[in-house]
Amino acid sequence: MQTFDPVPQSSLAIVGTDARFPVRRIFCAGRNYADHVREMGNDPKAERPVFFSKPADAIVESGAAIAYPLDTADLHHEVELVLALSTGGVDIPQHAALECIWGYAVGVDLTRRDRQAEAKKAGAPWDAAKGFDNSAPIGALTPTRDCGHRNAGRIWLSVNGAVKQDDDLASTIWSAAEIIAFLSRSWELKRGDLIFTGTPAGVGPLMPGDRVSCGVEGLAELGFSIVAR
Ligand code: MN
Repeated sequence: MQTFDPVPQSSLAIVGTDARFPVRRIFCAGRNYADHVREMGNDPKAERPVFFSKPADAIVESGAAIAYPLDTADLHHEVELVLALSTGGVDIPQHAALECIWGYAVGVDLTRRDRQAEAKKAGAPWDAAKGFDNSAPIGALTPTRDCGHRNAGRIWLSVNGAVKQDDDLASTIWSAAEIIAFLSRSWELKRGDLIFTGTPAGVGPLMPGDRVSCGVEGLAELGFSIVAR
């Protein structure tokens, strides 16, 4: 009988410890900051959150040099607050949702904007636009017991030192609790799930040679560079 070595478990660094947070799935919410919904040509009032996912092995840690992805000529940055869940369930009521959050991190929802535009036009899935290799740079997790719940505070991203995205978590259309409640109507959430919570306005292209820095007030910063393939 043939045997196989275990496939590596995706995980995140945790601020202040060598322990790691094992990752199960990565869910992502779209259209959660009104200015970004408008810049993408949609009406914030008419929209509910849209959900898509990335594979857990798309995670890249702070400090990485990421090769410019295959199959795109329009790679975009989207800085986002990331939730890490230690419990889950189905039909989680909003008033109980925050109890599922073990910690917070800053992440970038790297996007092949050209593939996304094609998918939208064709009514096709977003996997090629969002779920590609190395599409989920995420900084070290800060436990909720240390940082509290992050429902306000600056969220920003700079490319080569120039600030491109700069907003406040208080500008979100849907709160973290609402996003967890919505998601849990469609999926059973579990320990190890991560949730990207949407990006503010100012998304734009990344090119080989670019250095990205980003952060959310109260959390560890994330930095990475894009290099030629
Ligand atoms: Mn996004």
